[in-house]
Amino acid sequence: MTSTHLPAVQSATPYDGFDTLYVGGTWRPGGDGRYAEDLDPWTGRSVTRIARATVQDVTDALEFARKIQPDWAKTPPGERARVMRAAGDILTARKDEFVGWSTREAGSTVIKATIEWEVARGEIYESASMAHHVTGQILPSDVPGKENRVYRTPLGVIAVISPWNYPMNLTTRSVAPALALGNSVVLKPSEDSPVTGGLFLAKVFEEAGLPAGVLQVLTHAREDASAVGDAITTSRVPKFVSFTGSTKVGEGITRKAGVKRLALELGGNTPVVVLADADLDQAVDGAAFSSFLHQGQICMSGNRLIVEAPIFDTFVERFVERVRSLPVGDPADPATFIGPVINRRQLDGILDKIQRSLLGGAKQLLGGEPGGPSGLLLPPQVLVGDNTVATAAEEVFGPVITIIRAEDEADALRIANDTNYGLTSAVFTGDLERGVAFAQQIEAGMTHVNDASPQGEAHVAFGGEKDSGYGRFGGEWIVHEFTTDHWISVQRTPRQYFRP
Ligand code: NAD
Repeated sequence: MTSTHLPAVQSATPYDGFDTLYVGGTWRPGGDGRYAEDLDPWTGRSVTRIARATVQDVTDALEFARKIQPDWAKTPPGERARVMRAAGDILTARKDEFVGWSTREAGSTVIKATIEWEVARGEIYESASMAHHVTGQILPSDVPGKENRVYRTPLGVIAVISPWNYPMNLTTRSVAPALALGNSVVLKPSEDSPVTGGLFLAKVFEEAGLPAGVLQVLTHAREDASAVGDAITTSRVPKFVSFTGSTKVGEGITRKAGVKRLALELGGNTPVVVLADADLDQAVDGAAFSSFLHQGQICMSGNRLIVEAPIFDTFVERFVERVRSLPVGDPADPATFIGPVINRRQLDGILDKIQRSLLGGAKQLLGGEPGGPSGLLLPPQVLVGDNTVATAAEEVFGPVITIIRAEDEADALRIANDTNYGLTSAVFTGDLERGVAFAQQIEAGMTHVNDASPQGEAHVAFGGEKDSGYGRFGGEWIVHEFTTDHWISVQRTPRQYFRP
């Protein structure tokens, strides 16, 4: 399978036609012709109609993916790499267009959308090199005259299901390596981000010359999420389901998926620990950035700020002042740091957690009512409480931080680990090796010393522990995940079967 279409790097015409599925290599409506609206969380208005996939559309896409994959796998790695590099160049050229869509569809601020674009671009370029990173082995044999070869092959069809909060990045980190390694992909973005989590990327790859149908996209309405999601995850066609989303939905997938490979990247409850010897300016800035970037709607957002007793009062005072200064408002204004939350359901959940925290004994140091044109703009909320109040015990996924006092370092570690989640974490200290020793004791897939956020990194071992799921993204980890071993033994000389 070779491609004849070479991309124009300076893409002039903005993409359109986001009201269709991308199935079987064609842009077409859903099987029963129904649509949903994709709402702008700032204005509350629709940005585009979205086609609603039926279960039959899912079956069609999976069957097509199964048929087309062997041809794509036979495409020389150099050609697959070329498509990846072209896609990276196209996304680069379409930066403003992507940032505009992200702002409108997801309520992303310009700073968040730009970080997302940068990371997604990095993931695509990195995946270009993966096409040549697939190696086999020759292994010794105990049987005379036998040669054992291990061929590393693509898995086949990979299903990718992504959330709405960092949709381009969280989709691309699976889709680009899966394609580069010779798999076909059926992608189901979230109902809240069908464009930036799926259709936009499909148009980038189409323009880059990816053969039609190697990547397919199924969009849907909120009420169809379980039916469409279950049809993908329970099918025998995908050999791998790469899921990023809530722990609740992830747990359901483990029960329903049957025997197939899964990567589950689930919820988090990030502790940001500030020890008494920390540089307070760095810690205040890092914690504020981590907790409020994208309105706190990031799996890695600081959810609990654990501060050692000797600096507690000073830190809290400075932190509240810093957060008070963060610009809140229209996400399209480049100065804005906190924009609207994604939808009414999410806002109601956040307000409910704050309410329950206050009833549980937390004190509110900073707050404010929701506002903005759609009513989804929640100003930053700072609470002080213990580790049991709702906003500390649960993942809030909103512009809310709970500050918790720790008596000493050991107490800070105990509090940090007192959660079912284990995605990311951070510790601020004046002694880097003390920080590393502390980090090694945190039960999480990722810990950052003197930095509260891995934002901007595309090439690391991203992944969680405990209820935050498992799986690692980036580099060699993903090459291993999206390919499999095939042992082929070769008997070079006749074998003496019936001799002792
Ligand atoms: P969600 O679980 O509600 O939805 C995620 C995806 O699952 C969406 O595409 C949704 O349509 C789909 N889905 C819903 N029901 C399904 C079903 N029965 N089968 C298959 N798919 C189904 O999560 P969300 O609200 O979109 O995202 C927020 C959550 O995602 C938070 O908990 C956050 O921490 C987590 N998250 C984790 C990571 C990570 O890398 N660990 C990254 C981002 C977000």
